[in-house]
Amino acid sequence: MSQIIKDEQLQPESAVEPRQKALFGMSLDELRELMVSLGQKPYRATQIAEALYHQRVTSLDEITVLPASLRAELTAAGYTLGLPEIVQTARSVDGTERYLIRLADGEAVETVWMPDGDGGERGDGSEASAEEEAAEGLEGNASEFTTGELAAPKRDLRNQGALAESGYRRATICISSQVGCAVNCQFCLTAKLGIRRNLTGGEIAGQVAAVLSRHGIRMGKDRINLVFMGMGEPFLNYVQFIRSVEVLVKHIGIPESRMTVSTSGIEPAIRRFAAEPLRPKLALSLNASNDTVREQIMPITRKWKIAQLLDAVKTLPLGKREWITFEYVLLGGINDQPEHAREVLDLLKGIKSKVNLIVWNPGPGIAYTQPKPEDVAAFQKLLIDAGMPTYIRRPRGRDIYAACGQLKRTVSEEPQVVTIR
Ligand code: SAH
Ligand code: SF4
Repeated sequence: MSQIIKDEQLQPESAVEPRQKALFGMSLDELRELMVSLGQKPYRATQIAEALYHQRVTSLDEITVLPASLRAELTAAGYTLGLPEIVQTARSVDGTERYLIRLADGEAVETVWMPDGDGGERGDGSEASAEEEAAEGLEGNASEFTTGELAAPKRDLRNQGALAESGYRRATICISSQVGCAVNCQFCLTAKLGIRRNLTGGEIAGQVAAVLSRHGIRMGKDRINLVFMGMGEPFLNYVQFIRSVEVLVKHIGIPESRMTVSTSGIEPAIRRFAAEPLRPKLALSLNASNDTVREQIMPITRKWKIAQLLDAVKTLPLGKREWITFEYVLLGGINDQPEHAREVLDLLKGIKSKVNLIVWNPGPGIAYTQPKPEDVAAFQKLLIDAGMPTYIRRPRGRDIYAACGQLKRTVSEEPQVVTIR
């Protein structure tokens, strides 16, 4: 059994913060303060924000509305845009793209782009708001999404963005919140990296900006969903995670109703999250139906038991059409039997929930086996028959190691990666 993570790593504020003066990620107030401190008029802040978040410039020199002297002053004071940069791309046969994104200090994280042409992934944690789906005629019960293809509703394609022009209804971007992860779930490849550092809010939001730019996405025209499900545990980088949400909502223009954050279960952070004014949807990585199994596969369970996590989750003030998503990675012979499904139902009684079953994605050096397809089907059926909306997450980008839990910095280990850029 691997060593449980240290207490100080469990503090949501714990941080190995990078020291950098990055403009990207700053709020309008912070930019104003900066301008005033440099003896500039506050409206310069608005110009910088416009350039950073709407024009998505990639260097200070491109902000030509600023006087050259101001740009020089910013540079001399050590300010950079601090935008993460896509340095490597791998494309899957299913359209998924995985990016290696380099940060200012040379560390790297992975970000995934999942264009979705069939509208059938409502259950994967990347859902658009239920209201929007209802408006489009995409509402349905769980089994519709897992047993059959949905006909695409007729849509007016005039005035659509780059995404719709390429035939996609929406896309989901999966972003990382830390370089590596301290939580050490036994089935996850990211865990093998250990924790290297937290990302800043700007670096988290910057992944989105980099990917949107790559695909020529204009906000307001294309529907973009976000999932905080890449490398790292967002709730162990809580402050910067919330900062990124603010930038993404207020500046980039992605509503929080189209964002889902997944946590392995940091109890105090869940309670804090429940009180946030700007709050993505929550997904909890339950992954086991009792503490004994969960402790084996997620040692963090020694710190917070399932019951404590569920109590914390119950404090979330859910919107009328909001549910808590419970992710459940199915590991062959470990947590995939009918008795486990029945235990899950018992646990989730009284919580407005839906369940996302994720077939475990194998990775080198991890000694689990995939569940049998018939066990997956039986598990889902048992939950659905009891009235629990239950989806099986479609594995995306498995051939490029972009699927769940397969994000790991693998540049040198993967000669088959295709560099497109
Ligand atoms: N740290 C957060 C978010 C990132 S992991 C969390 O754990 O929730 C996102 C999801 O991928 C989690 O539900 C996790 O349980 C799942 N996951 C991790 N490794 C996996 C693997 N090898 N196969 C399938 N799912 C995996
Ligand atoms: Fe970290 Fe999530 Fe992987 Fe667990 S599953 S090690 S919390 S990234």
